[in-house]
Amino acid sequence: MSKNRESWGQDTKLNHPERVRIHEGNIPLLQPVYHSAKFTASENHPVSEQFIYGRVGNPTTRQLELTLAEIQKREDCIVMSSGIGALTGTFLGLLQKGDHMITFRELYKPARMFIRDFLPRYGISSSVLPLSDMSKLESNIKPETKLIHFESPTNPNLHMADIEAIISIARKHNLLVSMDGTFGGLHQHTEFDLDVMVQSLTKYANGHGDVIAGSIAGRKTVLNRIREFTTYQGSHLDPEAAYRIQRGLKTYILRYERQTRTAGEIAEYLSTHPMINWVKYPGMTEKDRALVEKQMKQKGGVVSFEIKHDAPFNADKFCRRLNVIQLTASIGSTESIICPTLSFFGGDLTEEERREMGISTHSLRLSVGLEDARDLIEDLKEALG
Ligand SMILES: *Cc1c(COP(=O)(O)O)cnc(C)c1O
Repeated sequence: MSKNRESWGQDTKLNHPERVRIHEGNIPLLQPVYHSAKFTASENHPVSEQFIYGRVGNPTTRQLELTLAEIQKREDCIVMSSGIGALTGTFLGLLQKGDHMITFRELYKPARMFIRDFLPRYGISSSVLPLSDMSKLESNIKPETKLIHFESPTNPNLHMADIEAIISIARKHNLLVSMDGTFGGLHQHTEFDLDVMVQSLTKYANGHGDVIAGSIAGRKTVLNRIREFTTYQGSHLDPEAAYRIQRGLKTYILRYERQTRTAGEIAEYLSTHPMINWVKYPGMTEKDRALVEKQMKQKGGVVSFEIKHDAPFNADKFCRRLNVIQLTASIGSTESIICPTLSFFGGDLTEEERREMGISTHSLRLSVGLEDARDLIEDLKEALG
């Protein structure tokens, strides 16, 4: 085939367009989005160090992985096409037939259901303990136990795990330990010696509610085992989505700080309101306070609360009375969003479990956005009547 483009037919020209050349050192300030699924290999480097195929590696998603590893102070990171994909990738990457894992019932509902309903299909069993009682943890460790997985603060009711206690038991018994840190965000819990930190990037990281994504950060040796699995699982993140998260991250700290401030004001307002039974926000109970002091510099933008049961409306109806705050799923977005916790997170729990976890017909989870705190409080006040 001639190197002379002029002799090429139009179809050939369209499919092999003239390339824009950029001089060395003439670098775009933002990492461009590489949509290309394929890269040609350079003769000057080993193929294993190059980008060849997009499912295995892409410069835009790799840029996001480096950013996320650095901010979380972890050795490496893998980004996935959802937070739940990051969780299931972690479990299936690290466990095999005959293994046992320990987790806690105060866990994001889809994660709890995957562990309980799907892992047994692959011969992986689990013990699900209450997060508030660490005395049960050690006695549930069996010879085949390989992993302890927990969340802090938990979704939806912001229970705090004693992270140091869990890690020290894991180390003593030579177990891997993974944490879902979505509610605390990326900049907190960095000092804890976890093997794996999972995040739903859909929430605070992206922050604008236009991407579903997740990440697995942690020790390189552990992540290599997970990557071996996830490369074949095929739940890699699309480069366009990676770019949107990278852009969202520019304002991540600002948003988290502002949402923490507003959520604190709302938690305070609700805790004095005569129609409110209880408010859950990190550090509001005596027991939590020491853990919050040790584990979280900022308490985040989520507040859970229960309306008194003799109110003329339940949680579902209460959501319909709000004007600014919108009824929907998710947290950590620029808009304030609310959901009733029973229908969203309690369907698989027994009556007793719900009572102990604070999930009822009148309980709600509110994630504050970037609106004026005054307008949000006014909205709640009017809806409470
Ligand atoms: C939302 C959420 C997830 C799941 O993330 P997706 O991106 O929706 O798949 C996992 N853990 C926690 C704590 C969450 O809040």
